[in-house]
Amino acid sequence: MRRFVLGFALVILCAAGSAMAATTRDLVIVTNAGASDVRSIEGTGALVNSVGSDGVFAEASAAEQAALAGIGFSVRVVTPNITAIYAANGSDGQYLTYAQFRDTMATIAQNNPTICKLETLGTSYNGNLLLAMKVSANPLIHENEPAIHFEGNIHGDEKIGWAVAFEMLKYMVSNYGTDTLVTRLVNTRELWFQPMYNPDGYVSGDRTNGNGVDLNRNWGWMWGYENAMGNAPFSEPENRASLAHILRHPFVIFVSFHAGSEFASYSWSCSPDTAPEKPLLEFLSLRYIVPNGYDHGQGYQGMYPINGSTKDYDYGQGMMGWSIEINFTKTPPAAEIEPTFQRNRTAILEFYHRAGQGIHGVITDATSGEPVHTQIWVSPANWPSFNDPTLGDYHRFYLPGTYSVTFRAPGYHDTTVSSVVVPNSGDSSVTVDMQMTPAALSPLFGFRVIYCYSEPSSYNADPRADIVLGPHDGTAYPLTTGRQLCLDMDRAVHNVPGTDLTVFRSSGSGTATVKGSNSWQGPWTTIGTANSAQTSFDLSSVGLDSVRYVELTSSGTFNIDAVEGVNDYVGIAGQTLNPKPQTPILQAQSPARGSVRFSLNTPPPAGTRLLVRDVSGRLLSSFVIRTSSFVIPAPLPAGIYFASLEPGGSAPLRVVLAR
Ligand SMILES: [Zn+2]
Repeated sequence: MRRFVLGFALVILCAAGSAMAATTRDLVIVTNAGASDVRSIEGTGALVNSVGSDGVFAEASAAEQAALAGIGFSVRVVTPNITAIYAANGSDGQYLTYAQFRDTMATIAQNNPTICKLETLGTSYNGNLLLAMKVSANPLIHENEPAIHFEGNIHGDEKIGWAVAFEMLKYMVSNYGTDTLVTRLVNTRELWFQPMYNPDGYVSGDRTNGNGVDLNRNWGWMWGYENAMGNAPFSEPENRASLAHILRHPFVIFVSFHAGSEFASYSWSCSPDTAPEKPLLEFLSLRYIVPNGYDHGQGYQGMYPINGSTKDYDYGQGMMGWSIEINFTKTPPAAEIEPTFQRNRTAILEFYHRAGQGIHGVITDATSGEPVHTQIWVSPANWPSFNDPTLGDYHRFYLPGTYSVTFRAPGYHDTTVSSVVVPNSGDSSVTVDMQMTPAALSPLFGFRVIYCYSEPSSYNADPRADIVLGPHDGTAYPLTTGRQLCLDMDRAVHNVPGTDLTVFRSSGSGTATVKGSNSWQGPWTTIGTANSAQTSFDLSSVGLDSVRYVELTSSGTFNIDAVEGVNDYVGIAGQTLNPKPQTPILQAQSPARGSVRFSLNTPPPAGTRLLVRDVSGRLLSSFVIRTSSFVIPAPLPAGIYFASLEPGGSAPLRVVLAR
C-alpha cells in the first residue's frame, strides 16, 4: 500500500512538470571570491552562476554554505530557496514535461516532413531520448550546405535554454514558406536543434545528468581538473551521442544555451591563450549581441576558467563554438520565455546567415570522384577544420580577405591553394573545390584529436593540441606527465610485415605509453613505449591486426610531433603497393563502393586469371582477364580481400573495400 501511494505521488509530480529536486539551495553571493575561486566553491557542491565585481554568485544549500564558510568564504543570501522558485516557475505548463516535449518533437516532424527530420542521437544516463531536429529542405539527404547546431539545457536546471531553442525551432518551421528570410535559410542551410540536451537534469531540476556529471565539464578538449567532470572524457552517454553527431556533421557554428548570467562566451575557456581565429569569434559575438545587449568575450577571462566545455571542443574541431548565457535566472517565470526568445531570435538568424559567409567547397578523389575525408587548414591562423565525410563538402566562416587553404588527408598529397579571396560583396563567399591526388606511399597520420587531458592541477594546458595532426614536421605538442591524448587516424593502420606505427618526439626525454584500438572507446591494447625521437612498433608483436585510434599517456613531458601509420591502402592510381611485384604488375585503383578497378602494366598473357579470396582464403571469384583494365564482375561488400594473378606466383595483392 505504501509503495502504491509513493508511486502515485511521483506520477502527480511528473504530470505537473515539477522537479524532484534533490537539494534545496539559496541564491548567494560569495563576497570575498573571484574567478580563481570558482573551482573551490564548486568543490563544496555549490553551483556557480557568474563572477562579478562584488563577488561570485552561486546557489548553495545550508550545508554547502557552511562548508564555504569553513574554508574562509563570506557568504550572503540573496534569494532564499531559489530551488523552489525554479520548481514553481518550471511547473508552469509552458515549460513542457519531458514526455510532452518528446511527443511534440515527433508531432512537428510528422506534420512538416518536407523540412523536418527527427533524429534520436542516443539515450541519456537515465534512458531518456536525446532528440535532435534537422530543419532543411530535403531533410532526408545531406546536401552541400553549411550546418548550424543550437542546443539548450546541457545544464538541466537552466530550462530557459530549452525554451529558447525550442521556440526557435517552432519559429523556423511555422514561418517556412511565408517569411522570405526563414525560407531562404531553411532552403540553403542545415539547421539542427537539440533543445533538451540533458533530459535527466530537466526532469529532476538538477544541473547534472542522472549520473551526477556536469556535462559541460565532460567534453574531451582539455578534460580534467574539474568538479563533477566524470571519470573520463566523454564518459557520459549524452556527450558520446553528441560527439558522434559532430563527427557525422561538422558544423560551422555550434551554440550551447546556458542561463544564470548574460554572456556570449567563446574559446578558450580552458586557457588564457588567445584562440587562433579570435577575430572571427569576436566578429560573430558582436553580431549576436546587437539585439540583446549581452556581454561577450573569451570564456576564460569573461566568465571563469573551465575545462571540458562544449565550446572548447567545438573550436578544437574547427567549428565556431559558443556558450551563450541568455538570462540571469536559470528558470524564470514562463512569462519571460517569449521576451527572452525575442532577444535571441534575430541574433540566431544572423548566425544562420553568417554561416554561409567564407570558404566552401567539395573535396573528392581525383581518380574516383568519391568524397575524401580531409583536414582544411586556413592560414594565416593555420587552424584546421574537417569536411563532411559522406559528401565531402566543407564550410568555413571567414571574413572578407585573402587566405591560403591547405587540404590534407591521409593517403593523399597535400594541396595548398593560395590567394583564396573571400569577397567583400554579395554573400561574401568563395568556392574552392578540391580533387585530391592519391599518394600511395606516404604514411597515414593523426587525422583528428578525439580527446586530450588538461594539466592535472591547473588551467594552463596548451589548447593547441591540433599541432600533433598530420605527418611529422618537427613541431610538437607538450604532453606533460599523466596526460592522455587520443588520435583518430581516420583509416585503420594495418599490420603488415615490419613497422606499422611510428611515434615521433621532437625533443626532450619524456616517454609515452602507446595504446591502440579500433574504437576510441576502447578496449585498448598496450603496444609499447615511445622513448626516442622515432619509436617504431609492429602490431603483430602484440597480436593486433589493425588500429584506427592511438592513445598516448605521457611520463615526463613528451613532446609529441606526430603519429604515423603504414599506408597499405590500394586503390590508388599509378602505384602498386604489392611488396613483391609480379609480372605483369597488378594494381587496384580507387575503390568505389563495392567495386575496384584493376589494371595491369602490360596486356595479360592469354589465359591469365584473377583470383579473389576473402581473409579466410575462401575463393570468391575466378575469371579470365582479357584487357589490362578491368573490374571484378560481381560487386563485393566492404571488407578485406586478396587478389592474385594465375599464373603469377607472387604474394597476393591486399584489397580493402571501405565504406
Ligand atoms: Zn550552464
